[in-house]
Amino acid sequence: MIEFHDVHKAYAVNGQSIVALHPTALQVEPGEIFGLIGHSGAGKSTLLRLINRLEEPSGGRIIVDGVDVTALDAQGLRRFRQRVGMIFQHFNLLSSKTVANNVAMPLKLAGELSSAQIKQRVIELLARVGLSEHANKYPAQLSGGQKQRVGIARALATDPKILLCDEATSALDPETTAQVLQLLAEINRELGLTIVLITHEMDVIRRVCDRVGVMDAGVIVEQGLVSEVFLHPQHPTTQ
Ligand code: ADP
Repeated sequence: MIEFHDVHKAYAVNGQSIVALHPTALQVEPGEIFGLIGHSGAGKSTLLRLINRLEEPSGGRIIVDGVDVTALDAQGLRRFRQRVGMIFQHFNLLSSKTVANNVAMPLKLAGELSSAQIKQRVIELLARVGLSEHANKYPAQLSGGQKQRVGIARALATDPKILLCDEATSALDPETTAQVLQLLAEINRELGLTIVLITHEMDVIRRVCDRVGVMDAGVIVEQGLVSEVFLHPQHPTTQ
């Protein structure tokens, strides 16, 4: 579903080049939950944001579901991003819009459905994430876990094949984290969605991921089945 071929990324800071990702090969299979773990600054967020080209690669090729993402023009990129949902640590909801209108946003922007169809789709999405009775509330009236559920419903609105999760549970308490992870696992199973998540918490990887990559200083230093990597860690960072 996702292939990285020699993908690398450097940022220019005050005329200096800072390497965030060294040339990287990666393959994420359809329908799996792939986790990336590592210390702060390891390059996880950069790698995640390269998948939907929120960051431009400095080189290499990124293929997502058969599409060469690195070759897309602006219009192609807009269409492609409808197939890739994303959720964030701090939810990134619009505070002046209701729950229902936050979820409707990507559908309105896509401009492919009528108002009645959007309304129906929002009802379905809110039911899926267990927020039907909160449709007319504003984000400030919700708990952290409920806000992330709105984020998930919004990310699913355009029926994506891939969901990218950027430290999606890092702002939540352990119990709420468990509930949100359970929802992600359900979505993965029932919709066949491929999920890539980044986290600094071993427990998140252990609970939901099929495979894991361990990142250190811009390199995936180790990857494999979660059970294998956890039972037989090879790299010092993993250990
Ligand atoms: P992580 O998600 O693992 O914390 P990041 O991908 O955010 O790591 O960062 C990797 C490296 O790239 C760090 O050294 C960070 O300071 C640098 N970096 C990330 N984003 C930028 C940016 N927009 N401009 C300059 N440097 C950046």
